[in-house]
Amino acid sequence: MPTSTLPKGVRVIKFAVPWKEWPSSIKNELYTIGWICALPVEMTAAMAMLDRIHGNGQPQIRNSSDSNNYILGSIGDHNVVIACLPAGDYGTTPAATVASQMQSSFSSIRVGLLVGVGGGVPSQQNDVRLGDVVVSTPGHTGGAVVQYDLGKRLSHGHFSRRGSLNKPPGVVLTAITRLRAEHLTRRSKIAARIDAFLEKYPESRSIFSHPGPAQDHLYDAVYNHPPRAETCDNCEKSRVLKREHRQTLDPVMHYGPIASGNSVIKDATTRDHLGKELGVLCFEMEAAGLMDNFPCLVVRGICDYSDSHKNKIWQGYAALTAAAYIRELLEFLPAKTMEQLPPVRIRTPLIGSVFYFILGHTWGSRQSVVLPDGKEYFLPSDSGGGEDGDDGGDDGDGD
Ligand SMILES: [Zn+2]
Repeated sequence: MPTSTLPKGVRVIKFAVPWKEWPSSIKNELYTIGWICALPVEMTAAMAMLDRIHGNGQPQIRNSSDSNNYILGSIGDHNVVIACLPAGDYGTTPAATVASQMQSSFSSIRVGLLVGVGGGVPSQQNDVRLGDVVVSTPGHTGGAVVQYDLGKRLSHGHFSRRGSLNKPPGVVLTAITRLRAEHLTRRSKIAARIDAFLEKYPESRSIFSHPGPAQDHLYDAVYNHPPRAETCDNCEKSRVLKREHRQTLDPVMHYGPIASGNSVIKDATTRDHLGKELGVLCFEMEAAGLMDNFPCLVVRGICDYSDSHKNKIWQGYAALTAAAYIRELLEFLPAKTMEQLPPVRIRTPLIGSVFYFILGHTWGSRQSVVLPDGKEYFLPSDSGGGEDGDDGGDDGDGD
């Protein structure tokens, strides 16, 4: 009704806050996927994959102990919660904290996604290149994530490593098989989705575009980057390994175990040694904090080769390829199937069955988690912390 025709004394009240500023109209219990990332470029990539952001992206309510910052939205039929690690925090403990706080506010989350960048482990068997995607699936040891720095140091310099960590939920592994079958007969949708993103946000091209194959240098493992040299401009190009030319710029997907730990791997000899011993395809710094507590799939876009030449040129593009892979995978993960999974329950024994905890702030109590298989696992009471000081990690942005 036009204002001029309103009865005398009736006024139109204009809200100062437009509708889009209101929190999500969807209840917290309807979110079933928790997406965790570590870096701002990873969060941008995650948000770029949403079909819709719910309201202003914020929850209606949250647990009083939950200090995460969220973006809520949907991909197809899935309601998705995205959270990022606190600025400057990397490693297994901050990732575990974010996951547990997320679970304290979103009690219906069935599956976690840990998506971002990682350092590749190229080998004769696995032609891993920058921008490719590594998806955590079980290897010959049965686990999809190996915590390479957790175990016992034995005599004579031997190290007894703790077994591999839990694997992603069965429904996710089934969806991966389905998508792999699809990719045998057609291109993945990753490149098309990245093109659409760059067209929509042309200002972001400098960060998220494919840097070009000429920027993908895999150096001989014994040839180290000169100390204090900021770029590889003066590195010996004769020491770059010759690899077969690829017909397209499309990223290749690699499936297998991922190595996770609190150290940054910046040494090709160590990379090759651990790669051979553990059969891993990449290194990253968060998954080991989650896998036994928060059933999740780890997907990493390869942004460097875990060697002394590592730089950040490929970070934005690699973050996008990993996120776009998840976007495509979710097409094969029916929301109805997700609802049949019981949600993860995290609880603190000292206060009974209350479903929240803050890792590292539990007044000496031991925390446990009940996984969908009904088994209860106690969380490690560790643990040192994150980065190596000069770098935010294999995914870091500190140097
Ligand atoms: Zn270099």
